[in-house]
Amino acid sequence: MKAMILKKLCDLKENQTPLELMNIPKPIPGENEILLKVSTCGVCHTELDEIEGRTPPLSLPVVPGHQAIGRVVELGNNISILKAGDRVGVGWIFNSCRECKYCIEGNENLCEDFTATGRDVNGGYAEFMVVNENFAYPIPENFSDEEAAPLLCAGAIGYRSLRLTNLKDGQNLGLTGFGASAHLVLKMVRYKYPKVKVFVFARNKNERDFARELGAVWAGDIDEKPPHKLDSIIDTTPVWKPIVEAMKNLAPGGRLVINAIRKEDIDKDSLLKLDYPDHLWMEKEIKSVANVSRRDVTEFLELAAEMRIKPEVRVYPLKEANKALVELKTKKIRGAKVLKM
Ligand SMILES: [Zn+2]
Ligand SMILES: [Zn+2]
Repeated sequence: MKAMILKKLCDLKENQTPLELMNIPKPIPGENEILLKVSTCGVCHTELDEIEGRTPPLSLPVVPGHQAIGRVVELGNNISILKAGDRVGVGWIFNSCRECKYCIEGNENLCEDFTATGRDVNGGYAEFMVVNENFAYPIPENFSDEEAAPLLCAGAIGYRSLRLTNLKDGQNLGLTGFGASAHLVLKMVRYKYPKVKVFVFARNKNERDFARELGAVWAGDIDEKPPHKLDSIIDTTPVWKPIVEAMKNLAPGGRLVINAIRKEDIDKDSLLKLDYPDHLWMEKEIKSVANVSRRDVTEFLELAAEMRIKPEVRVYPLKEANKALVELKTKKIRGAKVLKM
C-alpha cells in the first residue's frame, strides 16, 4: 500500500519535504483490531510537533496521521461492535491501559500508558491502517469523508477545550489563534451559547476576516486590547507571547485554556514579561488541554451532526502531504487541511 512516511526528524524551515511516499506492506489487524481502508485523513498541528521533535515518535519510520476516516475491510480476533463496510473515524488515542484511575473515570487522555495514533503506531497518511474497535468512532451520515476528518481532532479537542472553560451563556470568550480547531469552536459557541460574545486574536489578517465572517464580535492582533475583559480564553497558538497577552485580558476569576500539545521555544522569553498583579492576581487560572477522551469525540460528533457543522476544508492528494504541512505551518490557507487517498 502507499503511505507517506516520516523517517527522520527535521526542522520544516530547513526541509520542506519531511515525508516520503513509499510502498509498505498492508497492516494485519490483531486482537480487537480492524483493518480500515482509509479514505481521508486530516492534517493536524501535532504532526508538525512530531516531525520537528517536540513530541517525537517512539520509533522511526512512522506513518503520521490521527484524523482518519475509512471503511472496515477486515476484522481481527474478538470483534464485537463493528462489521465489514462500517464507516468509522480514528482519533489521537490509539489505545490506553483501561485499568488506571484515569481510564476508569473516562479520562484515558490522561493515562500514562496511552499510545498515540500516527506517533507511537502507524496512522492515517496511508491507504490502510489498523485500529482498536473500542477507539473507532462511527461517523454520522450527514458528513462526507472530507468534512468528517477534521472533526476527529480539531473539532473534538475544540469541544474539550470549550468544556474546560466552564463558559456560561452571556459571557465573553476569547479565542487566541484562529485555525482548524478555533473556527469550529466559534461555530459551536454560536449554536450552544447564542448570547456569548466571541473575541478573536490572530496575527494573520485572513484569519481575522474569517473570524468576523463566522460571527466574532471583534477580531484584532495578538497584542491588541479588546473592548471588554474576557471570562475565558482558549489559546491554540504554538508560542508563548499570546499566553502573556491573554492573561492580561482575562476578567477576575477568568480561565485561560491552552489547547496545544507543545509550545515552540522561539519566544519563550516573553514569559519574563508576566507581571503578577496584571496577569495573575484576582484568581486568574491557566489550564492545559491534553488531547481528547472517547467521551469528547463521541459527544462532539453527535453535537456536530445535530448542528450540521460544516468545517471549511482544503483537500490535498496523499502525495502532497508535505505541501499541506508546510501550508499549515505558514498559515497560507484557511480552514482545515485534509488528505484524500
Ligand atoms: Zn490532532
Ligand atoms: Zn490508563
